[in-house]
Amino acid sequence: MDRYDVVIVGTGPAGMGAAFSLLEKRKDISILMIDKAPVSTGGMRNDCKMNFTFPIGFPFEYWTEESADRYLEQVKAFLKPDILPKSNISTYQTRAEKLGCSLLEIQQTHLGTDGGLRLIQKLLTELQEKGVDLSLREEMLSINNDQKFITTDQREIGYKTILIAPGRHGFHFLQEMMQMLGVKYMDNILDVGIRVETRIEHYPIVRDYYDPKFYFPEKVRTFCTNSGNAHVVKEKYVTERGDIWYSVNGHAYAADEKRNNGLVNFAILKTVRFTEPLASGQEFAEHLGVMAALMGGGKPLMQRVGDFRMGKRSKVATFNDDLYDFEPSLKDCCPSDISLAMPSKILRYIWSGMKKLDTIIPGILHPSTIMYYPEIKLYANKPEYKDEHFQVTDSVYFAGDGAGTSRGITGAWASGIRASEGMVEHL
Ligand SMILES: Cc1cc2nc3c(=O)[nH]c(=O)nc-3n(C[C@H](O)[C@H](O)[C@H](O)COP(=O)(O)OP(=O)(O)OC[C@H]3O[C@@H](n4cnc5c(N)ncnc54)[C@H](O)[C@@H]3O)c2cc1C
Repeated sequence: MDRYDVVIVGTGPAGMGAAFSLLEKRKDISILMIDKAPVSTGGMRNDCKMNFTFPIGFPFEYWTEESADRYLEQVKAFLKPDILPKSNISTYQTRAEKLGCSLLEIQQTHLGTDGGLRLIQKLLTELQEKGVDLSLREEMLSINNDQKFITTDQREIGYKTILIAPGRHGFHFLQEMMQMLGVKYMDNILDVGIRVETRIEHYPIVRDYYDPKFYFPEKVRTFCTNSGNAHVVKEKYVTERGDIWYSVNGHAYAADEKRNNGLVNFAILKTVRFTEPLASGQEFAEHLGVMAALMGGGKPLMQRVGDFRMGKRSKVATFNDDLYDFEPSLKDCCPSDISLAMPSKILRYIWSGMKKLDTIIPGILHPSTIMYYPEIKLYANKPEYKDEHFQVTDSVYFAGDGAGTSRGITGAWASGIRASEGMVEHL
């Protein structure tokens, strides 16, 4: 059996943050990182927009402003981001406050999907040069913590301490690991909403602030804004029963005027938190996703704001009409009626948020604006952690979006550092 002092599962920012931090603390240890994908599949690979201001990306359950700031300083010192300039913020903030909303002013940077790939490759090369063994296309399947080894699709690997950081898509896998390890958990929170796509002139704030973070009443917020060479994409999910559904998402390539498609997209999400009787956020999300797939003939749904306001479904014709003057960037999507697929309470709050947004920045409710549904964020596994370093059971640590300790690249990186501080104690 191959044996390492440290095994890290997942080469996303949580895994990388832990690896670099461990190398700083102990030069004499052996580290193996594995990833089931050929290249890390999370946010660094998709758009790579990094936020450096609390609370963006830092769930309140695990972070205070003071603790997040302490780690963010380390993340910044390591990644040396070029913070994007912002302008006219106070004008938007004043308008938002009049409506009982807020606009958070945050430090952010945007590398784009292509720039993110270059960053991942640079960081992984650096880790290998520092002596880390890297095994891509290797999937962890199970863990035996009594005998301190994991089984992958290729071999058994022994460890003294292990970090499992499989990201949002590793949600099911992490639940399986918790069952194997006897770790208690809850997954009672999820974010549900739509992705909005429109012309930049209908949401011109993005020229002043790349990814504006608006907060509306009723736990509704804007999220993940992309512009320039911006695209809406779909992500595939498979339920345990084998049903396939898609969540939409968005990304943009690195800034390049020549490839600008003139579009902007962003999510408006509502956080749903279940109380008694506790429902699984995962199962709730799957029901919503499958329902949308049922209506869309296996595809996500899209509807023009013009049709939505008239209370009628969008049809192929509405996507070719002269009033609706831009092509959706996500072609493989079904023109439909999102209000038939979305729980009415969630839709009501989201529409209320959009109306407020249209008052703050007039234009977003132009009839041509497209609403894509569903956009669902599943990252709310909440294991019972034994300590502040995200240890779940003797020498086993979880971190990152899949484990609920973060909601973004920088939070995931910070979580990895925080886990590494506990992991060194086992070496
Ligand atoms: C499409 C998309 C776009 C996003 N864009 C942004 C953004 O621009 N900015 C931002 O801050 N956040 C973004 N996010 C959120 C972002 O993914 C996370 O916040 C961040 O990447 C989480 O880091 P992580 O290390 O927890 O997980 P990830 O970055 O998701 O990395 C987890 C890795 O673990 C691997 N893995 C999973 N299971 C196994 C297994 N069993 N065995 C081996 N390897 C496994 C996966 O292949 C993956 O590479 C985006 C997420 C998605 C899905």
